[in-house]
Amino acid sequence: MRNKTRKIKVGDVSIGGAAPVVVQSMTNTDTRDVEATVAQIKRLEDAGCEIARVAVVDEAAAKAIFDIKKGITIPLIADIHFDYKLALESLRSGADGLRINPGNIGSKSRVLEVAKAVLDKGAPIRVGSNSGSVLKKYLEKFGGPTPEALVESALEQVAILEEVGFTAIKISVKASSVLDTISAYRLISKRVDYPLHLGVTEAGTMLSGTVKSSLGIGMLLAEGIGDTIRISLTADPVIEVRVAYEMLSSLGLRKRITPELISCPTCGRMEYDLPGLVMRLEERMSSIKKPITVAVMGCVVNGPGEAKEADIGVAGGKGQGIIFRKGKIVAKCKESEIEKMLIDEIERFEV
Ligand code: SF4
Repeated sequence: MRNKTRKIKVGDVSIGGAAPVVVQSMTNTDTRDVEATVAQIKRLEDAGCEIARVAVVDEAAAKAIFDIKKGITIPLIADIHFDYKLALESLRSGADGLRINPGNIGSKSRVLEVAKAVLDKGAPIRVGSNSGSVLKKYLEKFGGPTPEALVESALEQVAILEEVGFTAIKISVKASSVLDTISAYRLISKRVDYPLHLGVTEAGTMLSGTVKSSLGIGMLLAEGIGDTIRISLTADPVIEVRVAYEMLSSLGLRKRITPELISCPTCGRMEYDLPGLVMRLEERMSSIKKPITVAVMGCVVNGPGEAKEADIGVAGGKGQGIIFRKGKIVAKCKESEIEKMLIDEIERFEV
């Protein structure tokens, strides 16, 4: 059971309430480079990303949002540090939401001005803390960026917005330690019913970041905590989106949009280049929008059993492959033809 949270909207995407867990990512292009940023967001959209976030480092970046919005279809969030003027400019340019901590932008009148501009647009604000941004007084009180410190620091940002009557809020409390992240989100989910944005900050490379995020975010999601997720990887953001869907579909929280690739771990019985085939297939299948299972097995001993269970499968042998569709053999081919035969079968497959 998912935790009950309030519903907010980012553009036309609902977060919280009964809405499905939303997949977001963040561009790593220079936001002022409209062409490159639009191209990256289009690739993210293609992978199933539902909200994109861009870093707004100066006025030119805030203004670029206007043209970026023209080239994309998903809502755009402006990520701003400190400068309330950039927040206002981003909203004028058409940003659908803000990531900003009101505690960083100065006087109450500035917070009011931003809150009013966001309210007029019907947009939300994400507030939050991560290990590096916990307010000093909480670092001192709790002896470091502990889960309690992360939570108190984030709730202080929430209180500033509530004071000016703004409640279209979502919250994040990201630590770079997986266990601290889990504890912080568990704590805050008991304190408020605002939707929660899950992430493990500075998660790392594709391998370590995927493992950390799967554990941190995955455990919280399995407990019903979390309304939107961003997987942070030092990699192409499209990979973040793919990892997000793998995670959500494994937990039964979202349906897959691309085929699920099942492959055997390989052993001494394998008699063809299965790892190479699997890598090429993964890339090619990532742009095919069909929620089916494709099994790639390494031998004709144990392979056919697994291959038969999938929608489409192959059991490879010495220089050859047997292709299955829904448990039935549909073709035998040379090893060099397996990839093409599988892709043809996937494209032909009716869901
Ligand atoms: Fe080994 Fe065949 Fe099983 Fe793959 S399917 S792990 S090659 S026995």
